[in-house]
Amino acid sequence: MVGDAGSVLTGLDGVRVWQEPFYRDLHQNPELSHQEHRTAGLVAGRLRAAGFEVHEDVGGTGVVGVLRNGAGRSVLLRADMDALPVREATGLPYASVAISADGSPIMHACGHDIHVSCLVGAATLFAQQQASWAGTLVTIFQPAEEVGDGARGMVDDGLVKLVGHVDAALAQHVLPFPAGSIGTRPGPVLSAADSLRITLYGRGGHGSMPQATIDPVVLAAMIVVRLQTVVSREIGATDPAVLTVGSLHAGTESNVIPDHAVLELNVRSYSESTRQAVLDAIHRIVTNECEASRSPRPPDFESYDRFPPTTNDEATTATVGAAFTAYFGDRHVNLPLQTASEDFSDIPAALGIPYTYWGIGGIDPAGYAQAQQAGRIAQDIPVNHSPQFAPVIQPTLTTGTQAMVVAALACL
Ligand code: ZN
Ligand code: ZN
Repeated sequence: MVGDAGSVLTGLDGVRVWQEPFYRDLHQNPELSHQEHRTAGLVAGRLRAAGFEVHEDVGGTGVVGVLRNGAGRSVLLRADMDALPVREATGLPYASVAISADGSPIMHACGHDIHVSCLVGAATLFAQQQASWAGTLVTIFQPAEEVGDGARGMVDDGLVKLVGHVDAALAQHVLPFPAGSIGTRPGPVLSAADSLRITLYGRGGHGSMPQATIDPVVLAAMIVVRLQTVVSREIGATDPAVLTVGSLHAGTESNVIPDHAVLELNVRSYSESTRQAVLDAIHRIVTNECEASRSPRPPDFESYDRFPPTTNDEATTATVGAAFTAYFGDRHVNLPLQTASEDFSDIPAALGIPYTYWGIGGIDPAGYAQAQQAGRIAQDIPVNHSPQFAPVIQPTLTTGTQAMVVAALACL
């Protein structure tokens, strides 16, 4: 470790003075994916004032801040900025009442306002204490994590060229466990997610004369059943994967055979190879069932809401984990495998660098302990995306800021 966390964190009390109101302001003014204009402007202003080289409008509303502080390694720290179309029901004094242009309520129901506030805080601390560390700090404020294309958008807009050589990438997410604790996990940590919309074609006609038609309802039903064999018969039992047909639409009347059917599928997996195996199997089964049914044209596949797997680099996670244990003691815990998905890993993948992604707790520790004692965690603790998800400001902000500083120093 080149720098020492204690000296970089000297200014934390001073940072808290503006960081808490900054957080409440972000929380009260959430913005949907790809519309994070106000948030991006506030972030860029803070970074510029701290002395960062700032690039705005990267991949839409993305902001990149670079702080060069002599020779040494380069570390990338990432936060996501977008909120969700959820009507806030936390009852907090700083709850959001924001409504989007198309009339949907908006809420920071995933805690991305925590991530932004922690990273701006950490960036400020590094800028204030440049005698205590050396190297280059790259901060990334990413749009549109919730729809899975914000990171890719920044990459497609030239992020790799913009940031130059980077050695490691780091990111964190606030999660429903006690605030003040921090969880790491080597290897797979978040699932990959893929949504597919598949249109199957038949030939419509009278319900009394099926011989003159090609029935897409029967075809769709065969496909739904056959798809159940992908995970159960083609994927190993130790390799988690989920394939769900969440939507099936065909026809309008009982006596009319329609001419097409639409299926919507969601796939979760924890490695690129499993993901590819499931997607290939879907393609093979659907295409061949259509052929078996004499479908007049091949099916259409449309993929959307695509998230890559998040698989933490073992060595980077060990380095960061050791620094967390040294700094946080037994508040550093093991993070269980998460079923949610993220697009963060698109950034280190484009740069060809290792990464680690950890969780910070956001739930009032006393309330959490009470729910745990009553065996009511699932019922009483609101999770991310819930209208009741309300991270406590402290110690969440302080822990997230410390975590970013400690992890970055461990990698510099
Ligand atoms: Zn989310
Ligand atoms: Zn999130």
